[in-house]
Amino acid sequence: MQDSLLARSRAAVWHPCTQMKHHESGELPLLSIVRGEGAWLYGSDGQRWLDGISSWWVNLFGHCNPRINAALRDQLERLEHVMLAGATHEPAVQLAERLAALTGNRLGHCFYASDGASATEIALKMSFHYWKNSGRPEKQEFLCLAGGYHGETAGALAVTDMPIFRDAYGPLLRAATVLPSPDARNAASSSEAARNAAAALEAHLAERHGCVAALIVEPLVQCAAGMAMHDPEYLRLARALCDRYEVHLICDEIAVGFGRTGSFFAFEQANITPDILCLSKGISGGYLPLSAVLTTDRIYAAFYDDATARGFLHSHSYTGNPLACRAALASLDIFAADDVLVANVARSASIDALLAPLADHPNVRHYRRRGMIFAFDVVADAGFSRRFYRTALARQVLLRPIGNTVYLMPPYILDTAEIDFLCRATIEALHAALPA
Ligand SMILES: *Cc1c(COP(=O)(O)O)cnc(C)c1O
Repeated sequence: MQDSLLARSRAAVWHPCTQMKHHESGELPLLSIVRGEGAWLYGSDGQRWLDGISSWWVNLFGHCNPRINAALRDQLERLEHVMLAGATHEPAVQLAERLAALTGNRLGHCFYASDGASATEIALKMSFHYWKNSGRPEKQEFLCLAGGYHGETAGALAVTDMPIFRDAYGPLLRAATVLPSPDARNAASSSEAARNAAAALEAHLAERHGCVAALIVEPLVQCAAGMAMHDPEYLRLARALCDRYEVHLICDEIAVGFGRTGSFFAFEQANITPDILCLSKGISGGYLPLSAVLTTDRIYAAFYDDATARGFLHSHSYTGNPLACRAALASLDIFAADDVLVANVARSASIDALLAPLADHPNVRHYRRRGMIFAFDVVADAGFSRRFYRTALARQVLLRPIGNTVYLMPPYILDTAEIDFLCRATIEALHAALPA
């Protein structure tokens, strides 16, 4: 029965981020999942796996969380959806208010969409249109960082520096300027890497600022690049340069927001505020597609006018979906009720205590962590990544390395036994995946 579902899936479903032919041979396993509970995913054959990457970084409080389920059941009986143009509802308003409050009300005017990539598109269009509305239409250029990832729709891909996702579509994409990354691995110290990258930004802005609309960054951790981490110093320097040269700073916290790096938003660790903030992934606790873009009163004011064309006329059909907003509210309730950021400090330290000894392993480089993200690079052949995926599954953990970077990005609910299980399985899977 399981085999037939997998065969039907291969025939009927075009799976994301996948060369479908790799599923044909069975070399790349396709898991048939029938239910989830807490950190665990259960397969149709009775097996289970601990979701060590929060189902692509979205799941914060486990699968089928009773509190989020209850909120959704309640919402389902009231209102499943209504368009947000010309109508409003409590979940959309309350979520916008609470997200703004979480930024200390320095950002607001929450613009909803459904996916991370759409949030990036909105941020780019908002910045571009702001400069046009402000009488500076020549400010059109976008700056992004080496190894940066902002999503895969055409606008987002244009500011994404990932050849494997980009190259096939090069001619389709608007040119953006890729600047050096502050990745701590790029220099002798993380602060030197931060200063070098900021110097490159400054050199570019000194010459081109009159034509630049915005710089887009992933604060503290470039996740898709393989959990490339940088010093908050870079964000402080970039913020100051953006202020000096009148360029928007867009923080893409789609992956790092909602407590992932230790603070609720990653930018807090640099004591800065972006001009535009993109949120998604963890926002709904991993339940439903939802994204949000928050911005300053100043940017909002540039669109507020009698003329329709000066407004921000962007939209998506499911914008502000009540069910998705309600899941997000339930998730924020859990943050508050369980003091999650504080509990995660202890969780992060426990995981670190078990994984840090790997730093001495002869095949391991750059063991690193920030908040609830842990990563290390493995010196091995190109086949390592897929081998590790299988050796980890065989030990009941779901982990998908990015290239030769193994990372953990678990949900915020692991108990001591699960932390132990996950870390031991990771280490065993590493040994099993390395050539003898
Ligand atoms: C995942 C991700 C995106 C894209 O989000 P989707 O919901 O997959 O479109 C954008 N930026 C960052 C930093 C991400 O990690």
